[in-house]
Amino acid sequence: MPREKVYKHSYKRGFKRRITIHHTRYYILMISRYRKIFKNRKIIIASINRDDVITVPDGLIVCDVCGNQINTDNVLFLMIGRHPWGAICEQCRQRYHPKLPIITASET
Ligand SMILES: [Zn+2]
Repeated sequence: MPREKVYKHSYKRGFKRRITIHHTRYYILMISRYRKIFKNRKIIIASINRDDVITVPDGLIVCDVCGNQINTDNVLFLMIGRHPWGAICEQCRQRYHPKLPIITASET
């Protein structure tokens, strides 16, 4: 995991004070498609009377930007700090986030 960038910021409010802002860091995380996070997934559509459960096939991964299927061995995730925004295909990464660093997830 990359260390978050810390920006030191000082301001005056009657007296001098220092605060620290943890800046949200954006990056691309590369994860193997064979990891268990892609297994046994389901989508639950909640409604008043009943919930519909749709199971997602293990091999099916789609880009959360354009909806195209991702078939590569490694899947890219757009990360905002420690939180995954979603999967992103290589075309969308190049188009919208070409400058973000790509970090490979550890295999554990
Ligand atoms: Zn895409």
